[in-house]
Amino acid sequence: MSTIYDIAIIGAGPAGIATSCEAIILGVKEIILFEKSGNHSDTIRKYFKDNKPVDKAWKGIDVVLQGNINFDGGTKESTLELFEDALEKYLINAQFHTEVTEIIKKNDQFIIVTNKNESYVAKNIVVAIGKMGKPNKPDYKIPKTLSKVINFNILASPGDEKVLVVGGGDSAVEFAYYIHDKNDVTLTYRKAALTRPNPKNIANLMEKVDASKITLKLGVDISSIEDVEGKVKVNFTDGSTETYDRIIYGLGGSTPKEFLKKTPIVLDEKGNPVVNEKNLNSPGIYIAGDMAGHLGGSIASALNHGYIIVNDILKNNCNLDDDLCMT
Ligand SMILES: Cc1cc2nc3c(=O)[nH]c(=O)nc-3n(C[C@H](O)[C@H](O)[C@H](O)COP(=O)(O)OP(=O)(O)OC[C@H]3O[C@@H](n4cnc5c(N)ncnc54)[C@H](O)[C@@H]3O)c2cc1C
Repeated sequence: MSTIYDIAIIGAGPAGIATSCEAIILGVKEIILFEKSGNHSDTIRKYFKDNKPVDKAWKGIDVVLQGNINFDGGTKESTLELFEDALEKYLINAQFHTEVTEIIKKNDQFIIVTNKNESYVAKNIVVAIGKMGKPNKPDYKIPKTLSKVINFNILASPGDEKVLVVGGGDSAVEFAYYIHDKNDVTLTYRKAALTRPNPKNIANLMEKVDASKITLKLGVDISSIEDVEGKVKVNFTDGSTETYDRIIYGLGGSTPKEFLKKTPIVLDEKGNPVVNEKNLNSPGIYIAGDMAGHLGGSIASALNHGYIIVNDILKNNCNLDDDLCMT
């Protein structure tokens, strides 16, 4: 408890990494970065297939970078390497395997409690925990006995299977596209058209659909699933049924509401963090990356959040040593 950190950053994805690096670049030395998994960028590691092309203009929106991490797209591997290099170059004090479980506001400071029952004190906190730690699940019941063949990413897919991918956004479309060459893949979505994904993802998908390599089943929902001798029997709302070896849901993620309740983060009526254009939630609390938007973000916008936040702390809400403040 001896160090009082200037900025504590929770989550070592693109937003948390950028915030840490921009802070060091601007001379803020007492920073700490908490990451619950064993390495940085857990979402990219878990949800991106090996060699996946990583687009800077994600979902068709090309964000102009403002900060110092020079991200211009690439692959999963080159993106991880870029972040690895940044963490090393700026000697970021990162605590891995350290999940922040609670944040308590005490006067003008924050006490950050971790899964290791350790406490840290900071003047500012930046919450950059993304949304993919809590993937969205369907409303109907998933039989426990099917847990091995019901997945929320493609890592467990062995190939040579009949697979149903469920969802209408980028994750689902990418999942279907990346596993289609080794599996018999159907992509299903409750709406009649796929309108949300990145245009490039739609083009990739449609090429395979036109070549009869991926089947599309649109405009129909799933009413229930059953375990039939270890396979998944899917009952659709149009009365049709089909049995698959595996279902992969790509339904995006949601704000981890249980965690938020144990923090002083101000929430709106839907339980999402309130954020202004400088990513400020309330005095000393900033929200960065995917957590800051309701529609899901991108790597480039997460990187910009880091830059905007550190500048806002130093220029507009400076509660640090006088020589650091830019006012
Ligand atoms: C399939 C898929 C493909 C995508 N492709 C692209 C693409 O090509 N281009 C693009 O720009 N974007 C893409 N995205 C979106 C991009 O991955 C996100 O916008 C980006 O990762 C958001 O960064 P973030 O730092 O906000 O959150 P995340 O990357 O989700 O990082 C959050 C980090 O916080 C950690 N964490 C969570 N809770 C805690 C806690 N309590 N304590 C400590 N640590 C915690 C997590 O382990 C994780 O490492 C894709 C997303 C998906 C799912």
